[in-house]
Amino acid sequence: MSKECEAIHVLARKLERHNFPFSESHIPVNGIYILFEKGEHGHGGERIVRIGTHTGEKQLRSRLKQHFLNENKDRSIFRKHIGRSLLNQSNDPFLEFWELDLTTRKAKDKYAHLIDFEYQKSIEFRVSQHIQSNFSFCVFEVNDKTERLEMESKIISTVSWCKNCGPSENWLGNYSPKQKIAESGLWLVNELYKTPFDASGIEGFSEIIKG
Ligand SMILES: [Zn+2]
Repeated sequence: MSKECEAIHVLARKLERHNFPFSESHIPVNGIYILFEKGEHGHGGERIVRIGTHTGEKQLRSRLKQHFLNENKDRSIFRKHIGRSLLNQSNDPFLEFWELDLTTRKAKDKYAHLIDFEYQKSIEFRVSQHIQSNFSFCVFEVNDKTERLEMESKIISTVSWCKNCGPSENWLGNYSPKQKIAESGLWLVNELYKTPFDASGIEGFSEIIKG
């Protein structure tokens, strides 16, 4: 998978790069995003650390805001992952509460009294600071939802199978309590190690990414 993974890296690095604060008008409404992280290298340049997309129609911009800006871990699995690693790195017992999903009324009623919301807010702030200062991304347009999800899965699988790129010694993800993150070097737990691109798949991907 190394050749295909290298091709993905080379193509993705050629796209316009977005840093926080990003300009929404340069981001398509439907598509896939690819994240890079400071200090992470592979295939002769910056290493891909996460690939993601959205399910709802025209939600790419709002998905990116949920990751970079909206301080709610329960609306962004990426924020949840970063928070877990930060908390685990400092042996913070709040990790147990960070895991709780408070989206539903029922969960809120059950757990709210246990949670120090002031402290949780301070962690959300740290997560935002960390993400905004360490991550950049590129995006490319894919309008059809089925195609988008299939392509996301194939990119993730290809990068996860690759033996020629992996996390640095100091990567924050090494502190993740999710073994799949530390193992794969990606801020992901789903779609890892499934069906990767073959050579013709990469050609199709290349056509799409070049627009
Ligand atoms: Zn690779």
